Amino acid sequence: MKIIMLGAPGAGKGTQAKMIADKYDIPHISTGDIFRANIKNGTALGMEAKGYMDQGKLVPDELTVKILLDRVAKDDCKHGYVLDGFPRTIPQAEVLDKALTELNDKIDYAINVDVPDENIIRRMSGRRACLNCGATYHIAHVPPKTEGICDRCGNELILRDDDKEETVKNRLTVYHEQTQPLIDFYTAKGVLKDVDGTQDMQVVFDNIIACLEK
Ligand code: ADP
Ligand code: AMP
Repeated sequence: MKIIMLGAPGAGKGTQAKMIADKYDIPHISTGDIFRANIKNGTALGMEAKGYMDQGKLVPDELTVKILLDRVAKDDCKHGYVLDGFPRTIPQAEVLDKALTELNDKIDYAINVDVPDENIIRRMSGRRACLNCGATYHIAHVPPKTEGICDRCGNELILRDDDKEETVKNRLTVYHEQTQPLIDFYTAKGVLKDVDGTQDMQVVFDNIIACLEK
């Protein structure tokens, strides 16, 4: 099963993608996590991506597409994957579509996690991330057992640089201009499923599973 998560930054794509990946035993692929790992390791790609990410801008398609296509060509993707944060532009979606068509393959579902902008800023300021294992928390909704420490791996949790209020506003503008048109793109392909992302995360998950198993 090949699934794409759509939605504004902070809508809960990563949270749900991890739960879907666990349930179906398929990889969760987040381009944001790949960029953050590169930044942490000080690679050239990471340095280049950081400049865009810190301003709330998208990393250029040329860089992003290559990383994603290399990743989905790996063996563990044979039986499917959940893409989280990719595609984010129509050209990215077109490249993915072409690559899959050449393999006689396609995206099965695009899940749009719908959360209004006014909820997003509140969510992002409470998000805490582990740069070591990729786990995410929320200080009110999903607190770690020990404040500031990842339950899974014991590393320190951080407020992402791009989760500061000004940057989140930029990211929302970019989302509406460049990413939201993907809703029409995948609706036209007949694979779009809308879920209300403002509900409790387990309810959101149950609704997603109902769409996938209908
Ligand atoms: P995205 O991957 O779309 O940027 P995340 O999955 O990281 O978003 O979620 C953003 C923040 O909101 C995180 O702190 C997460 O714990 C929290 N969150 C996710 N889903 C919900 C939900 N249904 N209700 C409340 N908070 C949520
Ligand atoms: P995320 O972790 O998905 O919220 O992504 C964090 C940041 O990484 C985004 O704001 C972008 O700067 C960059 N990024 C992640 N995925 C993409 C993508 N598909 N295209 C362009 N930039 C991306």
